[in-house]
Amino acid sequence: MKVAFLGLGAMGWPMAKNLKEAGFEVLVWNRTEAKARAHAERFGTRAVALEETSEAEILFTCLPTSSEVAAIAERLAGRLREGTVWVDCTSGDPSQSRAIAEALAEHGVAFLDAPVSGGTQGAEAGTLTIMVGGDPEAFERALPALNAIGERIVHVGPVGAGHAVKAVNNTLLALNLLAAAEGLATLVKEGVRGEVALEVINASSGRSFASADLIPNRVLDRSFPLTFKLGLLAKDVRIGARVAEAAGVPALAFHLAREVYEIARRTLGNDADHVEVVKLIEEWAGTEIR
Ligand code: NDP
Repeated sequence: MKVAFLGLGAMGWPMAKNLKEAGFEVLVWNRTEAKARAHAERFGTRAVALEETSEAEILFTCLPTSSEVAAIAERLAGRLREGTVWVDCTSGDPSQSRAIAEALAEHGVAFLDAPVSGGTQGAEAGTLTIMVGGDPEAFERALPALNAIGERIVHVGPVGAGHAVKAVNNTLLALNLLAAAEGLATLVKEGVRGEVALEVINASSGRSFASADLIPNRVLDRSFPLTFKLGLLAKDVRIGARVAEAAGVPALAFHLAREVYEIARRTLGNDADHVEVVKLIEEWAGTEIR
């Protein structure tokens, strides 16, 4: 089966590699062409012009936001063959996805929103969690390719549902990270070492992915590796707050997260890593979590 992968960023690069290693014929396209050529050279994929990606039966996108996906869909729509399945792994916006799906359906192309969770490590290992919205029959057709990049693949509802689940999940991540940073800054100022505080919290009810993984492995050792850009998490939180608001949920915590991550993004820059939001809390608290 021929698949195309558009967007060879931190996530797309290893995902396209895993598709190739699973035996698919893989066409790759990237805005910065040199990256696609390097991918082809390294993994045996084929770097192509955007128009040539329409040869594929399954077309993946993994771009920053739904706006970039919509722009590419507009350029490709008339060229795609009837029966093509478009699998969008971007962490996108549900309402934009519904509009893209509607436009593609006019050309006989099925659109699935299939954002992923598991970070760059999960993308590299092919163990991503994938939450998919869209037509169940198109989902079945895409499943063999999804199995090459993910471990837990869940059909969550109609088009847009995948993006809604992802936005809510990442808003929870953002809130948990913020809360853990505030809690730990407090305890450090109370004279408790970060490592000791985490030993207790991670065996107690206040634990989260932030306390169990991000803070011990990225903050305590001050490494703050760049794996997921702060600007992208701020975008997810904006979507999460918007979806909650549209659903008539008070979403007080979601709105707070949106404000704090907007400040963080403006202060630290879109290209900082998301965990660096902790540095802002540390600065405001006048301490370092160690
Ligand atoms: P990166 O910033 O590493 O990569 C972005 C990709 O999009 C690059 O290939 C870039 O091309 C391309 N791109 C940017 N702007 C445009 C444009 N205007 N037109 C066409 N292509 C464009 O992002 P990630 O790979 O980290 O993230 C991709 C998606 O996955 C995002 O929605 C993110 O929220 C989500 N995600 C990220 C995770 C992570 O841990 N990093 C985890 C889970 C989801 P170029 O090379 O030319 O810049």
